[in-house]
Amino acid sequence: MTFIDRQLNTRVVNDLEKRSTSGVFFYILIPPVLFFTDGYIRQHLAFSSVFLAIFTSICLFRIIYVQFSKKLPDRHEAMHKIILIVSILFTALAWGVGAAFFLLYSEQRGIQMLMLICTVGFSAGGVMSFMPVLFLAVSYNFLMLVPITAVVFISGDVPSLGIAMILYSIYLVLISLRGNHEYWTALENERLLEEKSRELEIVSRTDVLTGLYNRRYFDELFELEWELSSRRRTPLTLLICDIDHFKNVNDTYGHPAGDEYLKLISRHIRQVFQRKTDVVARYGGEEFVVLLPDRDAGHTRDLAQRLREKIAGTVMEYDGKEIQTTISQGVTSCVPEPGMDRDQLLNRADNAMYEAKHAGRNKIVVDMR
Ligand code: GH3
Ligand code: MG
Ligand code: MG
Repeated sequence: MTFIDRQLNTRVVNDLEKRSTSGVFFYILIPPVLFFTDGYIRQHLAFSSVFLAIFTSICLFRIIYVQFSKKLPDRHEAMHKIILIVSILFTALAWGVGAAFFLLYSEQRGIQMLMLICTVGFSAGGVMSFMPVLFLAVSYNFLMLVPITAVVFISGDVPSLGIAMILYSIYLVLISLRGNHEYWTALENERLLEEKSRELEIVSRTDVLTGLYNRRYFDELFELEWELSSRRRTPLTLLICDIDHFKNVNDTYGHPAGDEYLKLISRHIRQVFQRKTDVVARYGGEEFVVLLPDRDAGHTRDLAQRLREKIAGTVMEYDGKEIQTTISQGVTSCVPEPGMDRDQLLNRADNAMYEAKHAGRNKIVVDMR
């Protein structure tokens, strides 16, 4: 079973739970009303007691089981689904058979009609509730209605009532089919919508050319990491790098070549700053930024050095020509203090990067303040 299937299964089971729990309370309340009408319980004490005991026990089991299973730390979903479905089917079976005997034992038309109305109502409610699982909705309908319909036919009193019951049962099957189709279509649409919004979220935070985070998302993460580092009193390190004389690359080899080179540099940066927590983003045209939570400037300097060597030592072939440049990097670090502005860290890293440029490019300047 794939992850999506498992999620879907859990969703359906949760829906079944929710849809079945409200009804089950009425299943407990309604039978006593029926059995006490016109002194039925006094006339058929043994049957009434057995029916009420069995039916109420099944309903109570369902209520207690659903509540209890929610608290289980590692619930076996497949087993849970089976127990839930079997207990629902048992409710229908108990009611269906009980209702049939009820009709057989009762002599008064009024109380018979009351039982028929309850059974018809319960079966319709069941179909509405259990339509996520088609076989459950259909079986529920049959278990409830077939015994009582058979009694109506056997007693031969009102054959048209039996025919009406059969037609009603077919009608419920058709409603189950439609409802089941609509439920699954709605679920599929919901899933597609979630997938699309996830895709949109990824697109909105990604730089199209390089696949790195874009500046907007970097700003969001920077704000978050700043807060976290401030609370934990841990260092936050920032590295800004800019490709040296990149305009020349465009002018000499063309813009598409420049684009390819930007992609190559992005891959190199990602290879050097590999930690899941390292935030690598394209900050502007040929400028990149790396945010390193819980890493100090000294350690970052070593990584920056590795990046510098990697890029300086790489020659990119494009259209039969060889392109090679260097990068200038500025690194700074701090433990954010209350009242400090995170733009200060950005400015310090930027200034350090410009110092590296002025120092002749292909350099790393670390601001250790
Ligand atoms: P310096 O060493 O001082 O940084 O020099 P530089 O030439 O790299 O800096 P400058 O700011 O003069 O030029 C940056 C160039 O980067 C100009 C611009 O066309 C190019 N650039 C920015 N974004 C892109 C892009 O997406 N694709 C390509 N191919 N070039 C880009
Ligand atoms: Mg540049
Ligand atoms: Mg620049």
